[in-house]
Amino acid sequence: MPGPAADVRAVAGADPWSPSPARVRERRRETGDTVTLALEPADPAQTRFAPGQFTMLSLSGVGEVPISVSGDPDEALLVQTIRAVGCVTSRLAALKPGEALGVRGPFGTGWPLESAAGRDLLLVAGGLGLAPLRPVLYHALARRERFGALALCYGTRSPDDRLFRGELEAWARRADLHLAVTVDHAGPDWEGEVGVVTRLLARTPCRPERTVALVCGPEIMMRFTARELEHLGVAPGRIHLSMERNMQCGIGLCGHCQWGPFLLCRDGPVFPWERIRAAFGVRGL
Ligand SMILES: Cc1cc2nc3c(=O)[nH]c(=O)nc-3n(C[C@H](O)[C@H](O)[C@H](O)COP(=O)(O)OP(=O)(O)OC[C@H]3O[C@@H](n4cnc5c(N)ncnc54)[C@H](O)[C@@H]3O)c2cc1C
Repeated sequence: MPGPAADVRAVAGADPWSPSPARVRERRRETGDTVTLALEPADPAQTRFAPGQFTMLSLSGVGEVPISVSGDPDEALLVQTIRAVGCVTSRLAALKPGEALGVRGPFGTGWPLESAAGRDLLLVAGGLGLAPLRPVLYHALARRERFGALALCYGTRSPDDRLFRGELEAWARRADLHLAVTVDHAGPDWEGEVGVVTRLLARTPCRPERTVALVCGPEIMMRFTARELEHLGVAPGRIHLSMERNMQCGIGLCGHCQWGPFLLCRDGPVFPWERIRAAFGVRGL
């Protein structure tokens, strides 16, 4: 089975400024404020992406926002998971099957899946950070023999905030995937872990010296996770973080997402920890 297309960046090459039309094919509610949309772009090339990439989704007269691709890289659909936090995301999350929107991209660096082949693969997600990591799981489970141990550690605020619940249950039953879920707080019905996601990291079958770790979540969670992974013995060059700060053009021209020496949309969103560790330590950056 082929890996994520090596030339996915070419998709955005034709006219990266102009949104192409797409239609909502399916809409699934994930949590109280989050939905997953399966989009059918008029240009089928826009369904080709590397796990970790994002698109710019727009509604005419409303605005445009970056959203990670959360679907299966082997599927001919563009699947994206949207939390309604403000003006644009609320309108996108309310779209119904058949309704239209604009799509630019996919853009950005993906997770380093080629260099992870042959190694243990540890995914660490906080909240909505599971969305850009789900394509990695689809990719790795479809090519399971290419990787050593495979683990997902996932932390959310509460049990009700868990995304992709049906899939989490299916993944929990797999013998070839170590799944650990924790929540910040829960009622008496919750029989799982309570606490921060970093507490799960030492208990996975991944061997630190062989591990590639992919991390996405709130910045404070990523900082503590990267430090804990280093402490456990994972090389800083094999820890990768997705920096999902707000951005505007998506293609490195407007400067809106400048972060120290980086333009997050052009140089990221996925970075090796060793490359951005210094910037993480700068207060207010
Ligand atoms: C590379 C990338 C990938 C992303 N992937 C997803 C995704 O898969 N699903 C998803 O729901 N969202 C994702 N986001 C965040 C999403 O782009 C923002 O929530 C959106 O831009 C908010 O726009 P709005 O007009 O709805 O809200 P606004 O009115 O602009 O903002 C509402 C509130 O959200 C805050 N906010 C805006 N953008 C961000 C951000 N990037 N990070 C944290 N807080 C923010 C604002 O400060 C404000 O408090 C991603 C962002 C980036 C940069």
